[in-house]
Amino acid sequence: MPWPPNRQIKHCRSCGTAVDYRIPSDDNRERAVCPACGTVHYENPLNVVGTVPV
Ligand SMILES: [Zn+2]
Repeated sequence: MPWPPNRQIKHCRSCGTAVDYRIPSDDNRERAVCPACGTVHYENPLNVVGTVPV
């Protein structure tokens, strides 16, 4: 079963470069990786809901 095409990240959050989607050697899912600065953007959909500061 293929993983869902969850490609919400388009640009690097650090430098704004358009990200590539690749699978890191220590992972098994595609991640948004910045080709310019190397930042890996992990998508945590479940985390979005629970980030309201108290
Ligand atoms: Zn970057």
